[in-house]
Amino acid sequence: MKTSSLFLVWLTLSLWSIVRAQAAVHSACVDASVSELMIYNVLTDQEPQDICQLARIPAPHTASLAALKEVHARAAALFAIPVKSLFPQGVKIAINASAEAPNGHYDATPHSISLDIPPYPKSWVNKGTYAHELGHWLANSRHPQLNPAFRGSVGSHLLSETYADAVMMALTMTTEQLYDLPACLNLPAIDDKWTYTMGLGFIDGSFNPYRTYQCCQQTQATPQAQAVCDFKAETSGGEAPARPSAKPFTLRQYSAAFDDHYIGRPMLSFLMALGKKLGGNFYGQLLKAPAPAIAHRCTMTGVSNQVTVAGYRLSGQLNAIQGALTPAQRQVYQALWKAHAMDTAIAIDGRDFAPRVEQAGMKAFILAVPADHECKDILQSRGLQMENPDKCLVSCQQI
Ligand SMILES: [Zn+2]
Repeated sequence: MKTSSLFLVWLTLSLWSIVRAQAAVHSACVDASVSELMIYNVLTDQEPQDICQLARIPAPHTASLAALKEVHARAAALFAIPVKSLFPQGVKIAINASAEAPNGHYDATPHSISLDIPPYPKSWVNKGTYAHELGHWLANSRHPQLNPAFRGSVGSHLLSETYADAVMMALTMTTEQLYDLPACLNLPAIDDKWTYTMGLGFIDGSFNPYRTYQCCQQTQATPQAQAVCDFKAETSGGEAPARPSAKPFTLRQYSAAFDDHYIGRPMLSFLMALGKKLGGNFYGQLLKAPAPAIAHRCTMTGVSNQVTVAGYRLSGQLNAIQGALTPAQRQVYQALWKAHAMDTAIAIDGRDFAPRVEQAGMKAFILAVPADHECKDILQSRGLQMENPDKCLVSCQQI
C-alpha cells in the first residue's frame, strides 16, 4: 500500500513535469535546439512574443525553426559533437524585423543571439548571419570538446569576427543575397581576392559604410531597401561617410579602432584560395586546428587570488594546418601565403595576443570571484572596453 501510493505520487509528479516541460517550450523548438525565439516586429502593433511558448507555431516560423535546426545540425557535424551535447539547453534567439537590417548580435550575457532583418521579410532567418552569430556563441561555449584555441579567440580584434565568419563559411553558408535587399545593401561576400597589401580602406572596413551610402543614393526599388536606407540616413544625420583610403595598408597603420569584421578578411581569402587549390574545408580545419597552450598567470587589482589561463597563437594553429600537408601541397600553401601577405596576419595576432590572454583572465576571474564581488559585474560588462580603468584590472604574465 505504502509503495503503491508513493508510486502514484511519483507518477503524478513525473507526468506533471512532462506536461509542464511541454507547455514551457514547444517540441518543435526543442527539436531545433532552440530554447526561446522572440519575435519583434516593430512595424506592426503586434506584441513581442516567444514563438516557443505558443501551443501552435505560426506558419512562417516553422520555416525559421527548420533553418535554425539546419545550421545547428551542420555545426554539430563540423565539430563532430552530437547536436544535443553541443546545445544542451538550446539557443536563445531574438529576431527583430526593423530597418536596422541587415545585422546580427551575439550577447555574452545571457549567451544569446539576435538577428535584425528587413521589415516585411519573406524569410525570417538568414542562415548566413545566424551561422556567423552562432560562431560567437560556440566560441563562448564552455563545451570541453571544442578546440581551446577557437574558444581562446574571444577578445581578439583579429580573430573574434574572423572565426565567426570562418564558422559561417565552414558551414557553407553566406549572407550574400539572402535578404530582401539589393546586392549593394547586403553584407559584402567573402571571396579569395583579399590580401594584406590592399588599400587601407579595405583592411579598416571603412569601404563598407561608403559602399552602403552610395547604394542608398540610387533609387531603391523595394520598400525594404527604402526603409533600410531611410534608417541609415537618419542615424548618420544624412552625412556622407568618409571616402575610404586607397593607400596600401601597412602594419604601422593597424589600430584597434578598425572594424573587426574586415581585418581578418585576407586570412579568410587565403583559406578560401587554399580550399580551391587543394580541395577541403580549410575554414573548418582552422577552427579545429590545435595550437600549443601558452600558460599565463593572471592577477587582478583588489583581489588576492590568482588564476592560470592559456593563450593560443594563430601561428600555432596555422602551423598545424601546414604540418598536415604533403610536400607538394605545402608549396601551394606557401605560394598562397605570400600572395595574401599572411605574415601581416601573424604580426597583427602578435599585437593582439596580450589583450586576448587578459580577456581569458577576466573570464576566469568572473568564475573565481564570489557572486556578490563588485568585480563580477564590472568584468562581465567590460568586454574589450576598459570602463572603470582603475578597478578590477587584470594583468597576465607568461609562466
Ligand atoms: Zn560578429
